Amino acid sequence: MALVAPLTPDYEARPYWWDEVDLPQAAPVPLPGTVDVAVVGGGYTGLAAAWEISRAGRDVIVLDRDDIGAGASSRNGGMVHPGGKRDLSEFLAEPSGRQLWDETVAAFEGVGALGTELGIGFDWQRRGHVELAHHPRVARHQQALAATYSSIGEEARFLDASDVRGEIGSGRFFGGLLVERSAGVHPAKLAAGLVRAATASGAVLQGATTVLGVDRRSQGYELETSRGALRCSEVVVATNGTTDRRLVPWLGRRVLRIGSYMIATEPVDPDLATSVNPHGRMFFDTKNLLHYWRLSPDGRRILFGGRTSLSPTTVERSRDLLYGAMVKVHPQLEGVRVGRAWGGQVALTADRFPHVGRHRDSGIVYAMGYCGSGVALSIHFGRVVGRWLCGLDDQSAFAARSWPPVPWPAHVPWLLAGAGVGFKVRDALGR
Ligand SMILES: Cc1cc2nc3c(=O)[nH]c(=O)nc-3n(C[C@H](O)[C@H](O)[C@H](O)COP(=O)(O)OP(=O)(O)OC[C@H]3O[C@@H](n4cnc5c(N)ncnc54)[C@H](O)[C@@H]3O)c2cc1C
Repeated sequence: MALVAPLTPDYEARPYWWDEVDLPQAAPVPLPGTVDVAVVGGGYTGLAAAWEISRAGRDVIVLDRDDIGAGASSRNGGMVHPGGKRDLSEFLAEPSGRQLWDETVAAFEGVGALGTELGIGFDWQRRGHVELAHHPRVARHQQALAATYSSIGEEARFLDASDVRGEIGSGRFFGGLLVERSAGVHPAKLAAGLVRAATASGAVLQGATTVLGVDRRSQGYELETSRGALRCSEVVVATNGTTDRRLVPWLGRRVLRIGSYMIATEPVDPDLATSVNPHGRMFFDTKNLLHYWRLSPDGRRILFGGRTSLSPTTVERSRDLLYGAMVKVHPQLEGVRVGRAWGGQVALTADRFPHVGRHRDSGIVYAMGYCGSGVALSIHFGRVVGRWLCGLDDQSAFAARSWPPVPWPAHVPWLLAGAGVGFKVRDALGR
C-alpha cells in the first residue's frame, strides 16, 4: 500500500530553500520603449545572460511572468556535476564529444568560481556524487564507464554493491559510480546572488510580466507583453521547462516540459543523517524516471526528489510517492516527518542534450533543454549568449549541434502518459 507522508505541524507546500532566502524583486517600473536586449525568463540562464550583457555596458531587461528567480532555478536539488543527462561514454560518442564534455567541466568549475567572482556565498560543498545502479546491467556499464573516466583523467570509481552500502547504508543498488569532482549548492542563494549581480551592473529585472508574442521587425523585434509593447535589437528566450509552445513554436516543438518534485524532511538526529549519507554526497539513481537525494547544506534534513510522472500531477501526490521511495531506500527514515514539498518544471529534449544557439529563420537566441541537470549549464549558457550579444568571441561546442524536435506532439496528455509507461518499461529492463 502507498505510504502517506507524515507532516510537521508547520508543513508548507513551498520550496525548503525559500525559508532561508528572499529572492530580491525590483519594484515595477514602466517598461522602456526600446532596449538593446530583452531576455524572456528570469532563471539562471536569463540572469547570467543579463549579468554579462549589462556589465559590458549594453541595456538589457529581463522579463518573467512570475517572480524573478522563482522557477526551477531556486527550486532545484542544488546538485552540480560535470556532464548532463547523458553519461560520459555517450558524450564521447558524439562528434566533438570531448569538447562537449570539457565544456561541461568548465561550466561546473565556473559555478564554483562564482562565489569569488560575485562575492556571494551559496553553500558550495564539493563532496562528490554517486550514481546508483538500479539494475545489474547498468552496474556492468558503470564498471566500463569508470575506466572511461580514468582515460580522460577524471577522478571516478566504480563501487560494487557492498561499497555502495558503505556510501549510503542501503542494499537496494547493484553498484554505483562515484565522481569526486561534483558539488552541492544552495540553489536559491545562487539565484539571489545572480539577481544582485545583474542588478548591480545595470540590468532591469521585472517580474509579473508575461511575454505574449515576439514579432520580427525590419530592425530587431517587438515584444508584446502583459504590460505593453517593447522594441529591442535582440531577444533571448530562456524559459526552459516553462517554454510556452506558442511563443516561439520552433522552440516549443523541441522541449518536453515535465514536473520534478522534492520533499525536505524535518531536522533529523545527526546519527540518522550519517546513516543515510555518511560523506554528504549527492545521490541519484540511474532510472529514466529517477530519484535524487542529498542532505541539506547544514546536514540536518534529507532532501529527496524525483520525476514521479511525465503526466501532470500534484505536489501532494508526488510528496507521498517520494516519501514512499525514500523509505524504501532508507527504511530507518520511516516516521520522519516532511516539512516542505514542492515542484518545478524541467525541459527534456529528444537527444537528451541541452541546446544553445540562434534560430536561423527568426534570429532569436535561445538556451534551454537541460533535461533536469541544468544548474551548471544554464549559468554557463546564459553567460555564453550574453557574451555573444556583446560581440565577444565566446564559443560553445553545443552551438554547433542540430536540435531535433520531440518526435510527437509533446503537449498531448495521453502521449505523455504513454511515454511515461515507456520509460518505466525501459527502467525495468535497465535500459
Ligand atoms: C525540482 C527540481 C530539481 C532539480 N534539481 C536539479 C539538480 O539537482 N541539479 C541540476 O543540475 N539541475 C536540477 N534541476 C534543473 C535546473 O533547476 C534547471 O535546469 C535550471 O534551473 C534551468 O534554469 P533556467 O533559467 O533555464 O529556467 P528557469 O529557472 O525555469 O526559468 C525560466 C523562467 O522563464 C519564465 N517564463 C516562461 N515563460 C515566460 C513568458 N512567456 N514570459 C515571461 N517569463 C516566462 C518562468 O516563469 C521561469 O521563471 C532541477 C529542477 C527542478 C524543477
